[in-house]
Amino acid sequence: MSSDLHRRAIRRLGAIVLYLAALGLASPAARALTVFTCEPEWAALARELAPQATIVSATHARQDPHQIEARPALIAALRRADIAVCTGASLEVGWLPMLQERAGNRRVLSGAPGMFFAADAVELIDVPERVDRSMGDVHAEGNPHLHLDPERLAIVANALAARLATIDPAGAADYESANARWQADWAGRITGWRERAEPLAGRGVAVQHAGFQYFWRWSGIRVIADIEPKPGLPPTLGHLQQVLGQVRAAPPFAVVQTLYQDPQPGRWLAERIDRPLLALPSTVTSDGPTASLHGLFDELLDRLSQAAGDSR
Ligand SMILES: [Zn+2]
Repeated sequence: MSSDLHRRAIRRLGAIVLYLAALGLASPAARALTVFTCEPEWAALARELAPQATIVSATHARQDPHQIEARPALIAALRRADIAVCTGASLEVGWLPMLQERAGNRRVLSGAPGMFFAADAVELIDVPERVDRSMGDVHAEGNPHLHLDPERLAIVANALAARLATIDPAGAADYESANARWQADWAGRITGWRERAEPLAGRGVAVQHAGFQYFWRWSGIRVIADIEPKPGLPPTLGHLQQVLGQVRAAPPFAVVQTLYQDPQPGRWLAERIDRPLLALPSTVTSDGPTASLHGLFDELLDRLSQAAGDSR
């Protein structure tokens, strides 16, 4: 090879190295992670912290996260995931272990950094002192529906941002700044929500399951009856009649249930006490005003405030 040709080849090689550096190495940035979430609230949070990620949620707002079918599409989605974000505290015990086993993805096995459980980041409420089968489908590790406490959600966001940085160190600065922006915005919203929740404090609701329990605690709304005879069991007429007797003298301002529960039992009670049945989203929906975490809290406060105001 002539020395001229040689020089040209080296120059070309140098240009290729520079090009590759510009593509990836020169400025580290967040990877486009593939994120699997068990519930839509974690998909919404992941979108805030890792906007460039591909995010799939196993369940939507009209599904009961306690029990879903381990469909092949979900197994395939978990197989591709860099990180799985779930509630934990055994909420998904009926289906997630099976998905993990069938997906065969070591990145998202329990204990691996790619398996994030929100419940591990916060303290849970209503941890039962003892659990036995006669108590129904009780949440033995405490109430897992923690995303409906805006303050706990902020703690989870910190933990999730840190975990994303562990999974994808090159993107650490991006996750940190996205989280800082989100936290600042969220803190401002919490201040507004607290003001709006004030008139609701002390007012009573009847519920079906402890799905909104964190929200009630946070807002000061009192649960005066649960139309589930035992946790996780569908309401029975006998139990409804008992609840009716219990609340007739001082009825709740609303009967509250989720989008995925059968409205019949709640309606039965609501009609007899002449109060509205509110089917409230218990998580972020796929579209509409509750398609974001802040939209969800806005909606809960709107609907509850209106019902409480009407029943004055
Ligand atoms: Zn539950």
